[in-house]
This record gives sequence, structure tokens and C-alpha cells, in this order.
Amino acid sequence: MVAVSSFPARAVVDLAAIRANVRSLAAHAPTAQVMAVVKADGYGHGLLPTAAAAVAGGATWLGAAQVEEALALRRGGVVGPRVLTWLYAPGAPLRDAVEADVDVSVSARWALDELAAAARAAGRPARAHLKVDTGLSRNGLTPADLAAILPEVLRLRAEGAVEVVGLWSHFAFADEPEHPTVVRQGEVFAEALRTVEGAGVVLEVRHLANSAATLTTPSAHYDLVRPGVAVYGLSPVPQLGASEDFGLVPAMTLEAELANVKAVPGGSGVSYAHQYVTSRDTVLGLVPLGYADGIPRHASGTVERPGGPVRVGDRTVGVAGRVCMDQVVLDLGPGATEREGDRVELFGTGRDGGPTAQDWAESAGTISYEIVTRIGARVPRVHV
Ligand code: PLP
Repeated sequence: MVAVSSFPARAVVDLAAIRANVRSLAAHAPTAQVMAVVKADGYGHGLLPTAAAAVAGGATWLGAAQVEEALALRRGGVVGPRVLTWLYAPGAPLRDAVEADVDVSVSARWALDELAAAARAAGRPARAHLKVDTGLSRNGLTPADLAAILPEVLRLRAEGAVEVVGLWSHFAFADEPEHPTVVRQGEVFAEALRTVEGAGVVLEVRHLANSAATLTTPSAHYDLVRPGVAVYGLSPVPQLGASEDFGLVPAMTLEAELANVKAVPGGSGVSYAHQYVTSRDTVLGLVPLGYADGIPRHASGTVERPGGPVRVGDRTVGVAGRVCMDQVVLDLGPGATEREGDRVELFGTGRDGGPTAQDWAESAGTISYEIVTRIGARVPRVHV
């Protein structure tokens, strides 16, 4: 690996893996187009390279939460795929979105009004996706509010201001496909579709499925699936299967060079508050990444419960003691021969038994989404 900066760590992002993951997701949902969700800087993998790889893998749509993220795609030269943005507050730059040919989600009457005003100002019709809240109780029109807004939807279409092209929703328990709310939300969505289409709205796309539903709930595929985490190769349902069980390859490898290696006697307290005390003479290795870089402090380790894990050579060792702001200590074991500058891997593909983002999630009591999206901005991304 060629060092791209003097920062002694990097997140290497395998764009071929992202392309292959999108192809794999498309095969899981053969009747649907794929919207690759690239919000939050492509789940920490880098917005534009990730978007380009997803499109190369067959995604015809890109999903972004914030309007600014959607605009960044267009400004970055992403012109082929349709782009949808779905999270904004009053006063958002919807005119910029319309002018940039970005589809906008509508979750409330005020949003429809602001989108119509933006379209009039832009001098071109806006493309809207009505979001119906089928049971997550997050964004979205209630089914009653959806029915109530339809006369205005038809009026705005006649005016040439807003064209509603999509109806969509989001699951609360997609990662538990047997949960009764999955069926219930599907029924509410189907009813909402009947209401909207029955009123004469002609939809281009109906969409409901995130990664978990794409992989486990074919009835939710409709015309378009919206996978996020699976695009990056992480299993959205680790209790049901690991990445490879779904034909996915984790795209991000977080690696670093050891910054310090030293032999210490047994009984040495390690890192703040000496939460870890060496049980024998051993060798400690210092990894120059810490919680400021997104390494979860909850993945700190004790002798009884090692933190981490980290791949060193062909073995996996735990984090010894507290994760600090910029660094963590590894107990490399008695007689370890590593030296400063040797590469260690915090997580990667998991091939050859190496640690994964999912392992870190379990160590920290969180989900793999949080591990990859929180890798800090000072950690260089290297796209290969
Ligand atoms: N759709 C919406 C509305 C989302 O907010 C998200 C992400 O949270 C996704 C799709 C993608 O979800 P996942 O990463 O679980 O596939």
C-alpha cells in the first residue's frame, strides 16, 4: 500500500466490492431497480467514489438524506442516476434541488407547499415522492394526511408545478423479518398505494425495502429497493447471516501502522485508569487511532474481556485498556516480534478470519453501521 499522507492509518475502500455488492443486491431483487443509499458520506466510505461505484454496479438511483448531500452528488458530476433526498426542515434549498434535477420526498403539507414554490421559482416542475408513515413514526404523512393532501397533489400536477412520481415508506423491524409489524406495515403501504393510484396519481416508483428487506422480504421489493449498509458489504441482519452468506463483501478495511512497541513486565497497568493490567511479561503495541477517529470507547478491554479485536500478522489480539482519543494499546503477547511500522488491521473483509466491522460492533455494543459511519474525517480514505 502506497502511503497517501503521513497519517499512520487509513480506511481503504474497495470500489470493486461496492460494484459487486450492488450487482448482488440487484440479483436479490430482480424485479426492482436499485437505489444505493449514499448518505453520511457513503456510510463513511466517501460520497462520490462510492456513488460512482454503485452506479457502475447497476444502481440507477442514489439516496441521500440531506438536501446538501444530494446537491453534492450533482455538483460532483453525478448526472446519470436519479437522486432522492428525504430529510429537511422548512427553508431548505429546495429550489437548488429542483434545478439540480433532484427528486424530493414530501412528508407533510408544508413540504409540498415549499416544493411547489421552489418549482415555480425554478421555472420547472419538481419531482416528488410522497412518504407515508406506515408505522415507524418517523417522517411521513399518516394515511389520513396522505388522503387529505391528494387534491392539492392533483392541482399542482395540473399547474405543472409538482409531479408526484413516487410513494414510499420505511420499516421499523426490517432486520427482524418475522416481526408482525413487517406484514402490518406492508398492508398499510399497499392500502396507501391504492389510495394514491385510485386518485389518479401515476407513480413511476413505489419503494419500501432497505438492505434487510431487500435480502429477506421479497414482497417489499416493488419497483425500487433502497439498500444502504449492504452496498458497503455489511450484513444488515447479522443474527441471520454474515456478509458472505448474502453474497456481500465488506468494502472498508481500517488499517494502521504500529507507532510504538515495547516489552513490559507482568503487573503493568495499561492506558487510562489501568483498566487492563498485564498478567505476565508481554509486549505492547500502540495503534495511532482512537475515539476521535471513530474507534468506539465502548470497545475498551480488560483482561477478562479483551476489547477490539485487531489483526496483527496472522493472529487476532484484543485492545488492552481504555481506548484513548488518538490511540489504543494492544497486548501483542509474550515474545511478540512486531516492530514499529508494522501494519495492523482493525477490520476488513473478514476473510482469513480477520476482524470485521461487525466484530467491533459486538465489542462496543452497537451496530456495524455506527462503526463505519463514525470513522473520523482525519483518517484518510484510500479508494482502490
Ligand atoms: N431508506 C431510508 C429512508 C433510510 O433512512 C435508510 C438508512 O437508514 C435506508 C433506506 C438504508 O437503510 P440500510 O442501510 O439499513 O439498508
